[in-house]
Amino acid sequence: MKSPCGRAFHRRKAILDGFDARATAPCDAVPYDAAPDAFAIRRRLRTLLSLLTGATLVLLVLFVAFRPQTVYARTLQLSDFCYAVTALSTDDPPEPDAYDCAGPPRDYNTQSLWLRLKRAGDGEDNADAVLIVGNTRFERMEVRFVGDTGQLVRYSVRVGDFSEHWRPGSKIAFSDHALKAPLKSIVLRIDRLADVQFLRMNIVHDDEAALRFAALSATIGAGLTLLLIGALYNAGLAIAMRSVSAAWQGAWAACVLVWGLIWSQMILAFVPGFAGRSSAQIATFLACLAIFLATASVVSAIREAGVPKALRRITAGAGTLVGLSGVPLSLLRTGPLHLLADIVGILVLAVLLLCAVCIVAAWRRGHAPAISLGRAWAVPMLALGSVQVFDTDTMFWGGGAQIIVLYAAAWQTLWLAISTTAKYAHLRNERDRARSAEAIAYRMARQDALTGLGNRLYFIESAETMFGAGADVSAVALLLIDVDRFKAINDGFGHDVGDEVLRCIAATLRETVPAGFPVARMGGEEFVILTTGIAGDALAAFAERVRAAVAACRHEHVGDGSRCITVSIGVAATHGVTGYDTLYRMADQALYAAKEAGRNRVQIATMPETPVRASPPAPEPNIAQAAPRVRAPIA
Ligand code: GH3
Ligand code: MG
Ligand code: MG
Repeated sequence: MKSPCGRAFHRRKAILDGFDARATAPCDAVPYDAAPDAFAIRRRLRTLLSLLTGATLVLLVLFVAFRPQTVYARTLQLSDFCYAVTALSTDDPPEPDAYDCAGPPRDYNTQSLWLRLKRAGDGEDNADAVLIVGNTRFERMEVRFVGDTGQLVRYSVRVGDFSEHWRPGSKIAFSDHALKAPLKSIVLRIDRLADVQFLRMNIVHDDEAALRFAALSATIGAGLTLLLIGALYNAGLAIAMRSVSAAWQGAWAACVLVWGLIWSQMILAFVPGFAGRSSAQIATFLACLAIFLATASVVSAIREAGVPKALRRITAGAGTLVGLSGVPLSLLRTGPLHLLADIVGILVLAVLLLCAVCIVAAWRRGHAPAISLGRAWAVPMLALGSVQVFDTDTMFWGGGAQIIVLYAAAWQTLWLAISTTAKYAHLRNERDRARSAEAIAYRMARQDALTGLGNRLYFIESAETMFGAGADVSAVALLLIDVDRFKAINDGFGHDVGDEVLRCIAATLRETVPAGFPVARMGGEEFVILTTGIAGDALAAFAERVRAAVAACRHEHVGDGSRCITVSIGVAATHGVTGYDTLYRMADQALYAAKEAGRNRVQIATMPETPVRASPPAPEPNIAQAAPRVRAPIA
């Protein structure tokens, strides 16, 4: 048999389940280095993502601000119109004879407000004109395009029916296509208009209108999709991590999503009857509710941060006030709507300021979530604040303030979702590291440091499993192996040579014993093998093969290399219900008998209480002198 002892010991193959071949140097096996790299990659990816988002936003703003405009587009002010107010009529009332061209109109809330454009434009320019109206808080609106020749083209929309006139971004569009002559004037009749100050109108070329609505559709659609992702993701996080602030966050994203669907009128694609005042009222209510939910999200996220309770309460109270103010603001059909909107606007600013103070206070107290909260909230706070202060209505194809809010909310909710995920991934990584360290410790506790074989604990556990409840132990056998005259090797050649001999024998056992049979070093120069499924002659032949393999091993490091080192093996097999303790005692007695019989041999134990039967004598080993047998330890 070819000896494994001449080979490099550090390339030994492990045959024990789960044991590392380099077990003599267990520290090499610690797989800790991979995790920090993963973090660095994630950080780089996040930076790249932020840069890409920033660059895209800058390009978008530059495009919107400086894109070439080849066709006309005019924003109409209230001062561009003369007006008249008449009593409501269900019939088709004629146009009033007289219009007033100075001062704002009054008392129109419950009546019909007539608006006549002072000057339609300069002939050519107004070809293919589209009138875009950006307010839907009325009961009925009629638009009349008046041609040079007196031709009249009329369109009408009312609550619950905008027919084909509705457009994304809360717009209603009327085209003068049907007009044969050049456009001379435009007349609008609006019944029960809530507030003329909110009436935004543009007159633009057909191509420009098509471009605007395509851009509005894409922008709003993308914003709503981002919010949907954010809402679902946060809901998932809230459930997976049992996080209250993630739940608030998800609720806020869902609220802004529904608000966006209603405000933008995208919902009319599915529910056309929702057109008009009621959807505008619900959108107003949801906008206020969203501020409340956002405040709740901030307050709950910094609950553990040590921020003064009074500050948290005031912030939560102010947020609730804004949420509640949504009720009258949405229900009011007439009255000081504009004034109320301004008051709520100031209140919103105050809430944002309070939220910012809360976050900064938590940040200063070293509250880690407050840092990501601050980063996530910085953009929407600035956005919400700026739309309260500046007039952004004409930006983004007339979607202005709402589109800014939509994207700011999407940014915030996605950022928070990403940072929560990163935190979650970090925790998972920590857990994996702890598990890996635990697995290594577990392995090391069951591994013999000198030989890399399993140790006594490993063996006892393997035996416990094999002899455990319900296990079939009818064909289990134990081989106790003891090196012959090992003390003489230590004494003659030194302890380190003795160690090398033990490692060499362990390597031989690894090569000889089939996988699945536990092999262990019990201590000193004693080894043990547990077998299953072999008995009788096959078992004796296996034990003999192990003995012969060790005896055939060349020990080049011992003296001149010609010394033969042998082992004696005591074998005991289960008979019926023999327990582990009995089995061990039998194997030990058999081993003792093998030593007594001259060593380098296999002894098969018979049933307990009967004398053990020795195998035929093995060839006399090349050993200098005999040493007394030391009893094997009983587990
Ligand atoms: P026998 O054939 O009767 O088993 O004789 P033996 O010399 O092998 O038995 P004895 O019990 O007298 O000696 C065992 C020796 O094994 C004594 C101890 O110094 C040595 N030993 C125990 N553990 C180690 C070890 O980890 N490394 C080395 N080099 N020697 C060890
Ligand atoms: Mg010995
Ligand atoms: Mg011994």
